[in-house]
Amino acid sequence: MNTQSEQANQKHPLQGAGGARIVILGAGESGAGAAYLGKQQGFDVFVSDFGAIADNYKKQLEEWGIPFEEKQHTEELILNAVEVIKSPGIPDKAPIIKKLKEKGIPVISEIEFAGRYTDAKIIGITGSNGKTTTSSLTYHILHEAGVNVGLAGNIGKSFAYQVATEKFEWYVLELSSFMLDDMFNFKVDIAVLLNITPDHLDRYDYRMENYVASKFRITQNQTAGDYFIYCADDPETAAGIKERTFGAQLLPFSIQQKFEPGAYLDENKNIVINTKQAHFTMSIQDLALQGKHNIYNSMASGIVAKVLELRNETMRESMGNFKAIEHRLEFVANISGIRFINDSKATNVNSTWYALESMTSEVVLILGGVDKGNDYSMLNDLVKQKVKAIVCLGKDNRRIHEAFDDLVELIVNTSSAQEAAQVAYHLATKGDTVLLSPACASFDLFKNYEDRGRQFKAAVREL
Ligand code: ADP
Repeated sequence: MNTQSEQANQKHPLQGAGGARIVILGAGESGAGAAYLGKQQGFDVFVSDFGAIADNYKKQLEEWGIPFEEKQHTEELILNAVEVIKSPGIPDKAPIIKKLKEKGIPVISEIEFAGRYTDAKIIGITGSNGKTTTSSLTYHILHEAGVNVGLAGNIGKSFAYQVATEKFEWYVLELSSFMLDDMFNFKVDIAVLLNITPDHLDRYDYRMENYVASKFRITQNQTAGDYFIYCADDPETAAGIKERTFGAQLLPFSIQQKFEPGAYLDENKNIVINTKQAHFTMSIQDLALQGKHNIYNSMASGIVAKVLELRNETMRESMGNFKAIEHRLEFVANISGIRFINDSKATNVNSTWYALESMTSEVVLILGGVDKGNDYSMLNDLVKQKVKAIVCLGKDNRRIHEAFDDLVELIVNTSSAQEAAQVAYHLATKGDTVLLSPACASFDLFKNYEDRGRQFKAAVREL
């Protein structure tokens, strides 16, 4: 047994409990990782998935000698667990979760579980939008500065698997509200809350305050040596801050007001970051990630870097050379002077707002897909200013027509990425941008947003 798990042993009574039974519900990336770590720690592990398990995870579980079932939950094999680790995709309303709760069997997330077996310091990043971007950028800055850091959570290899196989001193964790809901004793040393806008409300009894409370769980267990970094310009966050007290030191960031300590935008030109120990400035023109939303994301990552007291010069370099992530305002091609941008990850209205806000030319906007009850009115001003035509890419486009028929002269329905790219190309003229930023989920016509983005990029390259 290594030192890390010996220390974790003292932290949690179940660890090393001579083959105590834990059950893992859901065999995706986090479930498979939790199973591996559980086995390594000497538990009797069983994995159960109500759906089909992907072949690669089945193969892994077999290789590791971990028993599993798929397309069913056998209660006798599950309700005898001392603890259950549940995939974030399974809602509390699922019958098996209700039964577990009735029996008083604790249900936790993979993050909570894995956190018991590492002493690494944790940077946790949450928000309705910008999590992947900010987590990746923060990881990049730390990694470039030579910090022994891993990137996990909703991204890449699971946290549990990395805890079992790596020896990182720091982790950047991308945390969704579903993960936070099943975290109880886990402590984030540096918490980042980017914004809170309505999303996934079906999982929160359609009550915004429940969703807000879920996001603020990122600060639970924090004490005076910890930091809570948040966007002071975000109305839900700002209101939530007033109603709560925090153990950690607060470091707000803002484009509208000056915060010291914290981060602000000076004369609309420079990011300025101050912590107790350090000072940093950088021109927004030199940032690799452009657009107002990315100023926020860069500020959040920059504050984390300054809390770690990284060198300004190294920070400027890495904040300037970070490569945009696929499907997030990703530049695809310039064809006959028309720029094509893939922002397929914009699956809600708020992210489309930021995408449009960052546009500096006239736009042909590709919108649509599965509408989760969108209120498009927040786009009205930007659409009036910048959008010359809308191309709908979805099975049912009625709500987009209702929202924009009076504002935009031309709205065309299409039903494949190829058709959308071709129509947009015809409607655009030199100097324009064709922006795929759908504000909707993709499941009507595509497997997921990645599939939508890739099909769009392939179609653009064929024009
Ligand atoms: P998440 O991981 O939270 O879903 P991503 O980093 O993948 O977020 O970005 C998703 C979309 O949200 C992007 O397409 C971008 O347009 C938008 N976005 C990114 N950062 C922000 C932000 N800070 N505020 C609002 N929208 C953002």
